[in-house]
Amino acid sequence: MKIGFIGLGIMGKPMSKNLLKAGYELVVLDRVTAAAEEVRACGAMVAATPKAVAQQVDVVITMLPNSPQVREVVLGENGVIEGAKPGLTVIDMSSIAPLASREISQKLTQKGVEMLDAPVSGGEPKAIDGTLSVMVGGKKEVFDKYYDVMKVMAASVVRTGDIGAGNVTKLANQVIVALNIAAMSEALVLATKAGVEPELVYQAIRGGLAGSTVLDAKAPLVMDRKFDPGFRINLHIKDLANVLETSHEIGVPLPLTAAVMEMMQSLKVAGLGDSDHSSLVKYYEMQAQV
Ligand code: NAD
Repeated sequence: MKIGFIGLGIMGKPMSKNLLKAGYELVVLDRVTAAAEEVRACGAMVAATPKAVAQQVDVVITMLPNSPQVREVVLGENGVIEGAKPGLTVIDMSSIAPLASREISQKLTQKGVEMLDAPVSGGEPKAIDGTLSVMVGGKKEVFDKYYDVMKVMAASVVRTGDIGAGNVTKLANQVIVALNIAAMSEALVLATKAGVEPELVYQAIRGGLAGSTVLDAKAPLVMDRKFDPGFRINLHIKDLANVLETSHEIGVPLPLTAAVMEMMQSLKVAGLGDSDHSSLVKYYEMQAQV
C-alpha cells in the first residue's frame, strides 16, 4: 500500500516517519519545503501538489491546521480530488469542524473517494512514540481496511460513528483538556501565592483524585517555565471555536469552555498565540500578580 502524507508540522512529521519505519512507501507534501526535505531524507518521495500526491497513492493522510486548509488541500485547485481515482481513500487526521468533515466527504463521495475523519490526541511526544489515541468517524469497512495503517501511529484507534464522529469526539477531548489546564493553573497559582512550593503540591496530590494525565504532562513544564509548543494556544483557540460553533448550533450551553476560550484569546492578544497551551497559567499569574 502506498500512502500520501500532506502536512508535516509538529505532528505530521513524526507520524509520517513512523509510517516509513513500518515499511510503507510514502509520497509527502508540505508548503514548507524544509519539512518535506526532512522526511525525504528518511526515505519518502516528495510531490509538488496535493493532486500529484493523490495520483501516486492508494490513501492520502492529511495532518493540517484546520477546516480551511483541509478544504483547500482536498477540494481546491490542484487538490487531492483532482488527482483522485475511484477507490482512493482520504484519512484526515487534522482536528477540524465535524460539519466540514461531512461536507468534504460528500464531495469526495461523488468522485468515488472514501473518507475517514480521524483526529488524534496525545501531542508531539506520543506522535514520536507512535502511541497517539485516534478517534475515527466513517464507514466500518473503510475503518477496518485502514486500521493497521492508523495503528502504526497510535496506541489506540477507536471508531466512534459515521463521518464527523471522529471530530465530535475530538471536540469533547479538547473541552476536557482545556478545562483541566485551567483547573491546574488555578490550583498552582493559588498554592504559589499562599506561600507553598508548587513542586511539593504537585508531588503531594498527583497520586490522589486530583491526579491526571494533563497534570503529569503539563505541571512539570509549567514549573520549569518551559512554554515551547507542544500544542499552540492558537490551535486550542481554533478547537474551542469549533466546539462553541457546534454547541451553539445544537443548543448545548458550555459556560466553562466559553470562559477558558476568553482567557486564551487574551493570551493571544498578549502575543502568546504560538506558546504552548499550558501558558494559560500566565493568565492567572497576571491576574494574581504572582
Ligand atoms: P503545525 O502547524 O505544526 O503543522 C501543520 C502543517 O501543515 C505545517 O507544516 C504547515 O506548513 C502545513 N500546511 C498548512 N497548510 C498547508 C497547505 N495548504 N499545503 C501543504 N501544507 C500545509 O500543526 P500541528 O501541531 O502538527 O497540528 C496539526 C493538526 O493536529 C491540527 O489540527 C491540530 O489541532 C492537531 N493536533 C495537534 C496536536 C499537538 O500537540 N500539536 C495534538 C493533537 C492534535
